[in-house]
Amino acid sequence: MSTVMASGAMLYPDRVEILGIGVDPVTMREALNRIEKFIEKRIPRIVITADASGIVLAQKDPRWRDILLKADLVTPDSYGIIWASRKLGSPLAERVAGVDLVVELCALSESKGYRLFFLGAAPGIADKAAEKMRKRFPGIHIVGTHHGYFSEAEELSIVEKIRIARPDVLFVAMGIPRQEKFIVKHLYEMAVPVSIGVGGSFDVLSGVIKRAPYPVQKMHLEWLWRLMMNPRKWRKVLTLPRFAWSVLTSRKEH
Ligand code: UDP
Repeated sequence: MSTVMASGAMLYPDRVEILGIGVDPVTMREALNRIEKFIEKRIPRIVITADASGIVLAQKDPRWRDILLKADLVTPDSYGIIWASRKLGSPLAERVAGVDLVVELCALSESKGYRLFFLGAAPGIADKAAEKMRKRFPGIHIVGTHHGYFSEAEELSIVEKIRIARPDVLFVAMGIPRQEKFIVKHLYEMAVPVSIGVGGSFDVLSGVIKRAPYPVQKMHLEWLWRLMMNPRKWRKVLTLPRFAWSVLTSRKEH
């Protein structure tokens, strides 16, 4: 990560700029190739899976914006980002979502021996997600797990636990931007080659997020059910009209 700059576009000219934030034009395959190169090089790096609400947040949280602009890889996590890239005339090829990256890297851990650490979500959930991944990829190397509800006083012991476990990849599932702020704060002490913010991935992979009852699914209202089950999601969804409006008006300015 570089220290001084005004815009992500200056530091990473290949990125597609959406409301002032650069997103790497990578497919899942290309993102994995870059991550594997980062693992080889062993210099601590941060990977961000950016969604529309994260980009809206970056308009008013300068620290988060700065982290996004300097990140080593920013992938298009959500469909909103793909939509915006099309509207702005530089279409991104496909979504590279956090939860899919976790699964792909679990598969690579089995075939190539990468060491993985799961940090985040409510107590027990990271363990459950790890258990599910061990069942799916029996040769996987998960070298540690920890939940994501800790105090500042506990932070250093968690950093130490990660450092001692020597993972190649650290998944941090504590929500945007908390997870990225944690990663950047401890990047060099943890000395992990690749740290990736993966939002609600462990909730999904552990299976604790239950599907809607069948009648609700049949009415095509599963999205509404999910929103009701997780009130934090309402705040995210409410940022989407603002995101769309900002993209459409910024297009006129170009
Ligand atoms: N979380 C956490 N620590 C906290 C707050 C949240 O580990 O202090 C976890 C939460 O349990 C959930 C994840 O962070 O598993 C955030 O999920 P969400 O889908 O809301 O995040 P997003 O993908 O929107 O960033």
